Amino acid sequence: MPDVKDPVCGMTIAEADAVATVDHDGSTYYFCSQDCAEEFRENPDDYT
Ligand SMILES: [Zn+2]
Repeated sequence: MPDVKDPVCGMTIAEADAVATVDHDGSTYYFCSQDCAEEFRENPDDYT
């Protein structure tokens, strides 16, 4: 199981532990919490 990085808070998490995912520009991003996912959805260009 690969580890992935939450781009909002910078935390590394196991893909299986991701609480939320967001598809953006053809990539899937993984988040530790709904709050991080929400932040990303609002400002995706700040994190990509
Ligand atoms: Zn996070």
